[in-house]
Amino acid sequence: MARYTGPACKLCRREGIKLFLKGERCYSAKCALDRRGYAPGQHGQRRSKPTEYGLQLREKQKVRRIYGVLERQFRRFFQASERQRGITGENLLAMLERRLDNVAYRMGFAPSRASARQVVLHGHLTLDGKRVNVVSLLVKPGQVLAVAEGSRDRAGIRENLKAAEKRGFPAWVEMDVEKMRGTFKALPGKDDIALPVKEQLIVELYSK
Ligand code: SF4
Repeated sequence: MARYTGPACKLCRREGIKLFLKGERCYSAKCALDRRGYAPGQHGQRRSKPTEYGLQLREKQKVRRIYGVLERQFRRFFQASERQRGITGENLLAMLERRLDNVAYRMGFAPSRASARQVVLHGHLTLDGKRVNVVSLLVKPGQVLAVAEGSRDRAGIRENLKAAEKRGFPAWVEMDVEKMRGTFKALPGKDDIALPVKEQLIVELYSK
């Protein structure tokens, strides 16, 4: 599937927030947004006042980029979240959080969502004891994600877990770092997701 392969830091600078696309670098002094906190390009430092549409569009792009989801799939998620009970914007975020690549990232098996996608695609994880390699699969509450038996000694995954443990895991996952596995306890609410996102703007954009 096609995906964005350009410079990740440019996306953060465009959106004006840290999207945490580059793993450990994002937590270090090397973060490009910390060093150059303005939009990329010749006119990046001359931001004009955005229109209402511009604000809605930026919010949608921001969320799409955080989760690394292409437009068509993002719209499908939106349509599915509209059909669910509750608040559409919050449903959308909860659904994006349930993606297997995101859950693997939140559980600390990889330092970024992009790298979590690789971990999943290479078959290093199991879901409820069975190997999985579909990054877009939606994890359900109660399911257990673990590092596959043959991948436990892989350099990197254990270090990633230890680094994530130091930063702290989200409340909606329960981790056993020693056993390299985690339980997706419950659907995360808006407050659990802790992203600087105004999801209502996305709803307004798609409702036009
Ligand atoms: Fe974004 Fe990470 Fe690059 Fe900082 S280091 S600009 S958070 S991708």
